Amino acid sequence: DTVGANLDRAVAAWPDREALVDVPSGRRWTYAQFGAAVDELASALLASGVAKGDRVGIWAVNCPEWVLVQYATARIGAIMVNINPAYRTHEVEYVLKQAGISLLFASLSHKTSDYRAMVDEVRGRCADLREVVYIGDPSWDALLGRGTPGARITEDGLSCDDPINIQYTSGTTGFPKGATLSHHNILNNGYFVGELIAYTEQDRICIPVPYYHCFGMVMGNLAATSHGACMVIPAPSFDPKATLEAVQQERCTSLYGVPTMFIAELNLPGFASYDLSSLRTGIMAGSPCPVEVMKRVVAEMHMQQVSICYGMTETSPVSLQTRMDDDLEHRTGTVGRVLPHIEVKIVDPATGVTRPRGTAGELCTRGYSVMLGYWNEPEKTAEAVDAGRWMHTGDLAVMREDGYVEIVGRIKDMIIRGGENIYPREIEEFLYAHPKIQDVQVVGVPHDRYGEEVLACVIPHDPADPLTLDELRTFCQGRLAHYKIPTGLQLLDSFPMTVSGKVRKVELRERFAGGQR
Ligand code: ATP
Ligand code: MG
Repeated sequence: DTVGANLDRAVAAWPDREALVDVPSGRRWTYAQFGAAVDELASALLASGVAKGDRVGIWAVNCPEWVLVQYATARIGAIMVNINPAYRTHEVEYVLKQAGISLLFASLSHKTSDYRAMVDEVRGRCADLREVVYIGDPSWDALLGRGTPGARITEDGLSCDDPINIQYTSGTTGFPKGATLSHHNILNNGYFVGELIAYTEQDRICIPVPYYHCFGMVMGNLAATSHGACMVIPAPSFDPKATLEAVQQERCTSLYGVPTMFIAELNLPGFASYDLSSLRTGIMAGSPCPVEVMKRVVAEMHMQQVSICYGMTETSPVSLQTRMDDDLEHRTGTVGRVLPHIEVKIVDPATGVTRPRGTAGELCTRGYSVMLGYWNEPEKTAEAVDAGRWMHTGDLAVMREDGYVEIVGRIKDMIIRGGENIYPREIEEFLYAHPKIQDVQVVGVPHDRYGEEVLACVIPHDPADPLTLDELRTFCQGRLAHYKIPTGLQLLDSFPMTVSGKVRKVELRERFAGGQR
């Protein structure tokens, strides 16, 4: 199927069920209304000269128009380019040029970001950019005015293998790369993710993760519309209070987030007063989840069936996922098993030879979900996807005997101290149990004698009573091998994050590279 054909099916099957709810504005669409709104916007795009294969950018915080643009561009075979709402002029100019965007949708402003002012600054330098449409502005109404109300757009001339989306990676390890994805890539992935969590038209999914990233638009929107479930937008950008309020008010059955979002919700003052009893499931993905957090999510947020997913933008994104009946140990110790129709293998990163179960190596994935390539970057594509179509993820993993996969960490984050390989994740899990530690990241910093040293970056529970390095070391003594015990401690009140909610360890490493004591 194409995305549009799949939406038609949902409209036919569940016309009166709710498809989309925007909590901040109170606007709601049933599937019939949503399908009609998508077609109306698609007809306006066609009337504005947007053709199949043209790049349409979206630089906006979460809002219902984001979702309409997603489905309307797919409907006509245009290629939607997701632009990170945290970007500033330099970065947006790069993307506008790199992807050759001709029409840009943008938010007007959000918090400290004045998108219109930034667009005005770069517009003259972007030769392909013909038109900019701001959401919640007369320019949006003007665009819609060119369309035909009640239009029915057919899928003639579209193929499910056409590219419809360029998504930039999170930029956790360096500059983001634009993964080019087809209908087939992302629609199937959204569908299978929804299958494994048993979505039906009864489900209501609270989506506080940014739409610009695949977590929101594929695992959220496409999983929902392929099952007749409802997409609930709690706020334009992540806000723990708005998220809990939306779950309570809309009786959501599913809640998404990266681990740091769940931590923020659980630690919100008044957390216990929210009625979250409607929740049954949700997805936690993007980075490893500390065991203590998972226990609280299951017990205190009622998410007995919370699903752990592993994936990457380049693979549409999900490759591994836990199953509904998995026990807590599999949900915390592993990222689940491979999805249907995807293959995984774990190889020696140096030789490419497959490693036996139980041993660590680079995770590689293959199947329908592997991207068409990085947009206009054939060399980078060739580095990531080999001749056999295997995607080399850059992540170290172990496959257990039972087929469940443990993510050990990124190859780039591994610390090598005096010849010993150290996986930060293991130390982070251990330190997480310290009562004075709210959140912790472990990174390697240069050291004259050992090559690298272990530095713990800690957000203390109580800044007035922070942890000392001595306390930290005493806590580890006798319980962790001596070479893994951090020799440095930095207290922080937050970590440098990507908009998709990941800690940029690369920044921590740079910041503290010279400051090891
Ligand atoms: P960039 O490629 O630009 O450096 P990124 O890799 O963070 O950024 P994404 O595609 O958003 O960009 O994220 C994919 C990565 O996220 C994976 O390669 C993996 O390192 C990490 N990841 C995803 N899910 C999980 C998970 N459940 N547990 C641990 N790590 C995960
Ligand atoms: Mg990556």
